Amino acid sequence: MIEDFSQQLLSWFDQHGRHDLPWQKQITPYRVWVSEIMLQQTQVTTVIPYYEKFIQRFPEIESLATAPLDEVLHYWSGLGYYARARNLHKCAQMVVNEFNSEFPDNIEQMIALPGIGRSTAGAIQSIAHNQRHPILDGNVKRVLARLYAIEGWPGIKKIENKLWQLADFHTPHERVADYTQAIMDLGATVCTRSKPRCQHCPGSVDCKAHRLGTETTFPEKKPKKILPVRKTALLVVTNKKGEVLLEKRPPTGIWGGLWSLPECDHDNGDTQLLNHWCRDNLGIQLDNIKYKPGFRHTFSHYHLDITPVSGQIRNNHSLRVEEKETFWYNVHQPDARGLATPVTQVLNELKQETKT
Ligand code: SF4
Repeated sequence: MIEDFSQQLLSWFDQHGRHDLPWQKQITPYRVWVSEIMLQQTQVTTVIPYYEKFIQRFPEIESLATAPLDEVLHYWSGLGYYARARNLHKCAQMVVNEFNSEFPDNIEQMIALPGIGRSTAGAIQSIAHNQRHPILDGNVKRVLARLYAIEGWPGIKKIENKLWQLADFHTPHERVADYTQAIMDLGATVCTRSKPRCQHCPGSVDCKAHRLGTETTFPEKKPKKILPVRKTALLVVTNKKGEVLLEKRPPTGIWGGLWSLPECDHDNGDTQLLNHWCRDNLGIQLDNIKYKPGFRHTFSHYHLDITPVSGQIRNNHSLRVEEKETFWYNVHQPDARGLATPVTQVLNELKQETKT
């Protein structure tokens, strides 16, 4: 019976579930929280090395709260969705300052913290505080949508509410921490997005989608939108020492708070126009301007076609930049600062080109 799903799932977890993930050891609210934030939109195998380095550098909430944001972003570089890292830092400071460094054990207070939604709060409360709260992350949505063959995209409020009701219904009163880990694990390892392994699933006898043979049609996908394309040029401005100009992005917007190459609209190969832009925005002119092969970086809401443009700062010209933090970066001796993935890609290419 489908009512027995939680018991069947727990038996499956005891025998086949993963019990040695880094965040399953020395469980604390802090460690569970960091893992849950990293696991949003990112797979377990990708998260593991980031998590281990992060926890080594920031072993408890105080070390995270007192670290500069730049360093936190550095440890996040490559994971994407940087708002998660900025919120993590802000949240750590709030927990330290307002809750005496202990996560509140009241779920409403926890949901009020930056970057913590109902599902993340439920996971922390159930795994670290053993309180009965349901969770509904992407894995759980998929399992429940298939078990009950729920039609409609889970981004629609009515569908999401239905899934929350089912999540609550199946959350047991005993062994809630194990259940929470078990259902996430089932979604990640058995009830996978494109090739569910139903023969290994504890819920296969009752699963409606499996009975219908339509497992992968659930949950319904977000109605497709054609992503717009934006074009930009990233300037690789070098000085006499071969250092590259970086500037800090504003705290909000794409790559917020990260260090980036200066971004310029002129990507049409017109070096004169480009130098006008450099004069107006950086107070310099460039020599040896080269347009390099472009590449595409895709965000959730648009594609960004990036053309790197390199050039050397003209003799006797010095940077005049107002209202922006800038830094001359040595690609051969990089320091700990948060860089966006496409910027790292361009800098790595430069490093290869200038290898001695
Ligand atoms: S039977 Fe298959 S589709 Fe249904 S929950 Fe299990 S793995 Fe997912």
